[in-house]
Amino acid sequence: MNPVLRRSLRSLAAAGVRRLPRALLDAQAVNARIAQRAAPTTDPTANPAADPAAELAAIAAEVSECSACSLCETRQNTVPGEGSTNARVMFIGEGPGADEDRSGRPFVGRAGKLLDDIITKGMKRRREDVFICNVVKCRPPGNRTPTSREASACGAFLERQLRAIAPKVICSLGAAATHLLLDTDRPIGKLRGRAASWHGIPVIPTYHPAYLLRSPEAKKPCWEDIQMVMGIADRT
Ligand code: SF4
Repeated sequence: MNPVLRRSLRSLAAAGVRRLPRALLDAQAVNARIAQRAAPTTDPTANPAADPAAELAAIAAEVSECSACSLCETRQNTVPGEGSTNARVMFIGEGPGADEDRSGRPFVGRAGKLLDDIITKGMKRRREDVFICNVVKCRPPGNRTPTSREASACGAFLERQLRAIAPKVICSLGAAATHLLLDTDRPIGKLRGRAASWHGIPVIPTYHPAYLLRSPEAKKPCWEDIQMVMGIADRT
């Protein structure tokens, strides 16, 4: 018997309660109620922001002054992300590159141009209809992969962005972003092509646009992933 249930029954017996309704004696039902009470309340989508635009502006302002990890020492500009506050689709990369660090905007280099093509030509949406950001908001020197410590230091900003926007689906771009989001180290080739979940929000991992530039043969499976993204985004 569940120890919590056992303790509860002992307390009731000590209080003089001898007969219990059958439903209360159903261990499964009691366990379910215990589990429900103990469920974590940290779901980042549980409390949507009342004013998403104001929240996103506040996050950008806080990011611009953030020194929570060492990436603040080498950045030129912070890159909080940009797009629609009502975006159904959120693209998340691993971190800003050199062009993004210079401009303060996400995905603006050659890889960004390819992502623009995926959004406009493939998805038939405008760039401003989706939200584009990265796991970390400051450029890792030499475009190295962000460390788990850096990702964790920056994670609260990403969680707040997700809570403010509440997208229908996340498309994680590349192995690093997918690994950081889903806490796994499986190869991206094994992760793509199927839906995962981040705090209840569907995640479709796919290849990073920079990889697509080097490996055009990956464009076909990427397009299959993007079709999954659109299917979920348009479902409701
Ligand atoms: Fe702050 Fe994130 Fe930049 Fe680190 S990467 S300094 S946590 S904004």
